[in-house]
Amino acid sequence: MPRKLLYLFIFVLASCSKEEKKSPGVFFAGEIVNPTNEYVVLYKGDVVIDSAKLDDSNRFTFKLDSISNGLYHFFHPGEYQYLYLEQGDSLMARLNTTDFDESLVFSGIGEEINNYLINQYLLNEEEERNLFSIYYPMGPQDFERRMDSLRNLKLETLQKLTEEVDLSKEAKDIAQANIDYTYYNYKERYPYEHRKSTGEPVMNRLTDDFYSYRDNITYNNRQFNYLRPYYNFMKSHIENLTYTTCSHECAIKEDVVKNQLHYNRHKLKLIDSVVQEKELKDNLYRNVAFYYLLRSRDKEENNAIFIDEFHQLSGNNRHIEEINDLYEGIRNIQPNKDLPNLWVTNSEGETISLHDIAKGKKVVFYFWSTNYKKHFEDITNRVSELSKANPRYTFVGISTASDEVAWKGLLAKKNLDENLQFWSDNANTLRRTLIIDHPNKCIITEDAKIVDAFSDMYASF
Ligand SMILES: [Zn+2]
Repeated sequence: MPRKLLYLFIFVLASCSKEEKKSPGVFFAGEIVNPTNEYVVLYKGDVVIDSAKLDDSNRFTFKLDSISNGLYHFFHPGEYQYLYLEQGDSLMARLNTTDFDESLVFSGIGEEINNYLINQYLLNEEEERNLFSIYYPMGPQDFERRMDSLRNLKLETLQKLTEEVDLSKEAKDIAQANIDYTYYNYKERYPYEHRKSTGEPVMNRLTDDFYSYRDNITYNNRQFNYLRPYYNFMKSHIENLTYTTCSHECAIKEDVVKNQLHYNRHKLKLIDSVVQEKELKDNLYRNVAFYYLLRSRDKEENNAIFIDEFHQLSGNNRHIEEINDLYEGIRNIQPNKDLPNLWVTNSEGETISLHDIAKGKKVVFYFWSTNYKKHFEDITNRVSELSKANPRYTFVGISTASDEVAWKGLLAKKNLDENLQFWSDNANTLRRTLIIDHPNKCIITEDAKIVDAFSDMYASF
């Protein structure tokens, strides 16, 4: 049977059985125009459920025998979007990667809630642009009134949808939470964003009922854990609570957190006391650990106190291995420590250690990948500027996640000095050991010892 006909057949079949969602299985298929790679991956939370390979006409198919109802995500490199699935659903998606979210349309059983969620996602994106320019600078009363009216509009749309189609209780709950927590999040962030944009502190001018919705929020609904507005709300809410309940004199002075260790331990304890759902708790703990360890750049002994406390509170965290790796990684690249002895390949195909590259001189290691051409262009231009301005340093490029042939091709094309370029076939180890957490990160070394492992090609020179 020709493929198009087959899909039409399935689609018609699916439409006929709309009345009764009997089968416990789910069918999810689609077509990707301009695919960026061959795979589509289906997630429930952070767990991979299944993956599908695109066929010759860029179509993919998932057939799942049995699933639990709820929010899923599907991923195609560079793109990530919601999928709400219930037993008996039979969905077709069509999308174009050049305009991913805007082009995404669902049809079949389960189409209504999915098209609704993607439309809401697009509306929220648009609204967020106005938040910073228009809404956050408003005074508290105007801001509150505006948030209420925006929320009411969304509630009306949802009301209409539930009158027209028969949504399950779970689907309705997701849709309702998607609206509520979007605006609750904006309110949690308001005093800080208002201050940032106007310079005016507003915390003391908030009325008693500004945060009255807090009486109705849940810290214990698994279905919401990966709903973006809900998780974003939780992060802002915990931040806000920590900030306003921190009585420790030294932690916050003139609105700036002075004692990051105290502040982040305070935050861990708060999460422990208010959040009930285990996975949400684990994710929020992870968020604090990553923020504290990576961004606050605290002293080594403080990091040790923090990680001890972390283990006591959340030793069985689902992300504990990742967090331990991060802690160890950071500990190993503190100033004056030996550069970790990783092996890379030179343009002759010989392996050489970072140590040998860095011995006897001042070296700045920077990172790039053949997969990100624009970043490669930018960073090589930046390197030629920096090498002229800082002749004491040797700038050494390490390419990750690249194919060796493609890598050599780019060196030749860009006319780069082959003595200063190396290639790694183990991007993950490199990333974890050297904590490459953003594309412009660089590591400054002297005689193979770390000077600063958390530098930035644009900010540090
Ligand atoms: Zn505190």
